[in-house]
Amino acid sequence: MKELLLLLKKIFGYDSFRPLQAEIIQRIIEKKDSLVLMPTGGGKSICFQLPAVYMEGTAIVISPLIALMKDQVEGLIANGIPAEALNSMMPEEKKQRIKQHCIQGKIKLLYISPEGLISELDWLLPRMEISLIAIDEAHCISHWGHDFRPEYTQLSVLKERFPNIPIVALTATADKITRTDIAKQLKLHEPQLFISSFDRPNLSLTVHRGFDKKEKITAIVNFIRKHKEQSGIIYCMKRADTEMLADTLSTYNIKAIAYHAGLSPDKREEAQNKFINDQIEVVCATIAFGMGIDKSNVRWVIHYNMPGSIENYYQEIGRAGRDGLPSDTLLFYSLGDLVLLRRFAEESGQSDINLEKLNRMQRYCEADICRRRILLNYFGEEAGQDCGNCDVCRNPPQRFNGSILVQKALSAVVRTGERVGMQMLIDILRASGRAEVLQQEYHKLKTYGAGRDLPYKAWKEYLYQMLQLGYLEIDYANAQTLKVTPLGQKVLYGNSTALLTTWHETEITKRTPKEKKEKDKRPADKTHPIRLIESGSIDEKLMDSLRQLRKQISQQEGMPAYIIFSDAALKDMVYKKPLTLEAFGDIRGVGDVKREKYGKVFVALIRFVLKASKE
Ligand code: ADP
Ligand code: ZN
Repeated sequence: MKELLLLLKKIFGYDSFRPLQAEIIQRIIEKKDSLVLMPTGGGKSICFQLPAVYMEGTAIVISPLIALMKDQVEGLIANGIPAEALNSMMPEEKKQRIKQHCIQGKIKLLYISPEGLISELDWLLPRMEISLIAIDEAHCISHWGHDFRPEYTQLSVLKERFPNIPIVALTATADKITRTDIAKQLKLHEPQLFISSFDRPNLSLTVHRGFDKKEKITAIVNFIRKHKEQSGIIYCMKRADTEMLADTLSTYNIKAIAYHAGLSPDKREEAQNKFINDQIEVVCATIAFGMGIDKSNVRWVIHYNMPGSIENYYQEIGRAGRDGLPSDTLLFYSLGDLVLLRRFAEESGQSDINLEKLNRMQRYCEADICRRRILLNYFGEEAGQDCGNCDVCRNPPQRFNGSILVQKALSAVVRTGERVGMQMLIDILRASGRAEVLQQEYHKLKTYGAGRDLPYKAWKEYLYQMLQLGYLEIDYANAQTLKVTPLGQKVLYGNSTALLTTWHETEITKRTPKEKKEKDKRPADKTHPIRLIESGSIDEKLMDSLRQLRKQISQQEGMPAYIIFSDAALKDMVYKKPLTLEAFGDIRGVGDVKREKYGKVFVALIRFVLKASKE
């Protein structure tokens, strides 16, 4: 055990194992099979990378995506571990060279796709000394999983061919059926199941509901301005929205790019690379984006639309904050999305399951109890207490007797003959005088203008609550018109009291002016390649300088900045301010190779910044 800890420090620069890592590694070294369920960012890679280094021979890592392999191989090489990825697009010569290296035992980890692996079953694999087999994204093997890949099913031959080599199957999402299915299909031998907590306490959770397009954009711009120069992803349901958003954000001087399946592979790769290399801050993407990305310093994720299930939602927000530092997530939820998603679910061929999944997602969005509790509960974990890091915990709902509001709304619905949707209802309540309202002669109703004392947004919020409380329901089959339920009638006729939650205007939708294109006002410092920021504390200056140095190195080496050092490593440097190479070696994420390679320049920069700030 001690030996493994030393290796963890020496190679990866970490002082301790995360929960379950040590147990999983131990099990692999004992040549036994395991199934690992860990959330994104939980630290799955170390579980097979460390034993791969420790054990004799070469570890085979099966991964579905080239981008994912590339990222991991670069990360390993940066830590001085010989690793390669074999893929079918490579020139033949290179493939041959890699295979030779495998046979000669010069490589500690070989990444390969499932198809690639199957095609090498008879030639390459028998010629290699294999230490272990790791199957990443193992849920792809199951029909029950959300990302089934037929190529994965062929992996069942591995256990037959190599009965004595330990297999570790890893995934971030697997419910009970999928879990059993993975073990069965891979024919794992008495696998031990490792389930780590799915809690990601560093992710803040916020949901906004009922925002229209304009409000969403204002909210997004305000949000991004609070996250200056940080990487983030905005997920959209429609391709057109990704482009609209990227264009709109650009007019606010925010570096954003669109990403969706309709773009050419070149364009997609370009977008991905720019994001990985911190050349742009924001990717506006359909769900096609992110699968193959291991970028550890994504600081926020926004859902422009509501996702179709909690699994998808959790996986997508999970792309933020893999380095464990605080990261923010924001979800916009609207009835329009709900209507569309319902239709998709109904047409999906698995409508029962998908409608139920959507239902759970909707309940999450509408919840007025701690959101993290709901998520953990969904994944079968018990949360002992409220999290303190979601919008509900931060602004506990305040209730009031809203019976009169409910009566106004429901009475208006009844008087129109239950023929209006939410928009029209609010217009009637607020006496908007819109042409359509007058055409239908709704201005003659007794309830016309009965709610003009409340702003539009407040009515929208209260109507959502009335839906949620079951006083109103939406007739999906009939142009989404509103109907009064029996429960609603009780309130309407004064036989029951309705408790509503007070609506507040949120800061986030207050409009802010567009910033002028800002030229870099900071002067270049001649005495050191890295310029300093004028304002802010020493720590801020230091952080900014370290980030720039990392960016410079990343450009010189053509490697993503987060592979050189994670944000967490830079933060640790700011905290510990190491002034010697030895002290630098104590930084989280600095192993021997990185200490030797980058230690000098980083220590020099830290000294320089500290000295400059004293003068
Ligand atoms: P996953 O594959 O489960 O999504 P990764 O293996 O990419 O997660 O790990 C997520 C982040 O956590 C990486 O930046 C990784 O270097 C870091 N990490 C993993 N194990 C440890 C550890 N024991 N101590 C500190 N950081 C760790
Ligand atoms: Zn909470």
